[in-house]
Amino acid sequence: MQDHTRSERLSSFLITFLFGWFGLHRFLRREIGMGILYLCTGGLFGIGWMVDCVRSLLCLIREEEEGEDLDSAIRCRRCGRRISFSHAQQHTLCHSCESQLNQEYTRTAQHFSRLTEEAQAGYPHLEDYLRTFAVLLNDVDRLEEMADELQKTPPFQKAELQRALDQRFTEAVSSRISMALEKSQINSDLDRLKSELTALTEELIDCKYRYPQYTAIITPMIDQVKKTLRQFDRSNPNQENQG
Ligand SMILES: [Zn+2]
Repeated sequence: MQDHTRSERLSSFLITFLFGWFGLHRFLRREIGMGILYLCTGGLFGIGWMVDCVRSLLCLIREEEEGEDLDSAIRCRRCGRRISFSHAQQHTLCHSCESQLNQEYTRTAQHFSRLTEEAQAGYPHLEDYLRTFAVLLNDVDRLEEMADELQKTPPFQKAELQRALDQRFTEAVSSRISMALEKSQINSDLDRLKSELTALTEELIDCKYRYPQYTAIITPMIDQVKKTLRQFDRSNPNQENQG
């Protein structure tokens, strides 16, 4: 269809250019009156012929430009809308998709940094860390996808983030243990220490079941807390469960 139209316009231009001075193109378009006028006046003394030639040529050029766009099919990767050749040199998305995606990218990056600050400040329950981590990892996946579409460098590597999160979780557990130990030393309240460490163990077991992907780092923590508990059991002869 496209080629047909293009060759039609090309032949129309050639006919106008070669035989237009005696009005052939007008006769072919069934404009008999104009054809006779062109025939009698030599294409309106050459002026009518020249104007028709230029018009026909412009028509042909415009057609070829459109054809080029259609043929090479430079289209927005998101919405499929055609994008101009010059825009396509540096972008794979149309203007509106790109600005929309940029906004989403910024929003996700802000969400990510807000949650990171939150996790850094600390949560009362261990499970809150892992819930936040899941959201953070999801954010990073989305940021990576969007960065790829926007041809940007993604802000974080997922593996790096995962390592940082594992470390943050380990820190959170360690600080819970040392806080419990400090408090018990100040108050010399061993019962309280034991109940806090028992609660911590239970929390860790809950975390392990809800977030099995953290099993590998949680299991040694549980062992560590249990070991600490056993030490206190042994070092406290007044405890009834001391055999
Ligand atoms: Zn688009």
